[in-house]
Amino acid sequence: MNNSEQRYCTYCGGTLEPFNDFHFRCLKCQRVIFQNPIPAMCVLMIENEKLLYVRRARNPRKGSWDFPGGFLEPGENVEQATKRECKEELGINVKVGKVFGTYADIYCGDGYTSTVLNVYIFCERGPGELVPDDDVDGYAWFPLAEPPDNIAFKHMRVALTDLQRVGKNNQSDQS
Ligand SMILES: [Zn+2]
Repeated sequence: MNNSEQRYCTYCGGTLEPFNDFHFRCLKCQRVIFQNPIPAMCVLMIENEKLLYVRRARNPRKGSWDFPGGFLEPGENVEQATKRECKEELGINVKVGKVFGTYADIYCGDGYTSTVLNVYIFCERGPGELVPDDDVDGYAWFPLAEPPDNIAFKHMRVALTDLQRVGKNNQSDQS
C-alpha cells in the first residue's frame, strides 16, 4: 500500500516522487524515504471467556473500542512495551504471555498515514483495579464471539476471527 499523503522530504522539505510501489525518493536531496511499517502491540486479556477492550480517548477513532496497547518506543521490545502500555492505560502490572500473531494495517492520524505491524500478545493481569488513563477513558469486557460494533481498527476484526477459530479448534481438540 502506498503512502500517498506524504509529499515532502522529512530531511530537506523537497518534493517526493515514487521510488517504487512502496517508497519515495526526494527530488532535491535524492534520499529514499522509506515507508516501512511501524511496530505496535495489542493486548489480548481474556477472563471468563471475555476479552478486555478500552475506549479511545483521543483521535484517531476517538470513542471507539480498541485493545490496550500502542506503538513501541525506541529500544523497547514487545514485552517491555506491553508492560508499559498496561501500566499507562490501565494502571496495572501484567504477566506477559505468548505472542498470538502479527497483523498489518494502516493507521490514519491527523494529516498523516502510516503502515503499522500490530503484534498481538496474551496477558494476564496482576493484582489491582483497572484504572483507565492516558489514551483511554473506559474499559469493558465483551464475550469473545460478540465484539462491540464500534471497533477502532480493521486489524482487530481479522485478529478476532483468528482468535475465535483457534478457540473452536482448542475446544474440538479437547473433546
Ligand atoms: Zn530531501
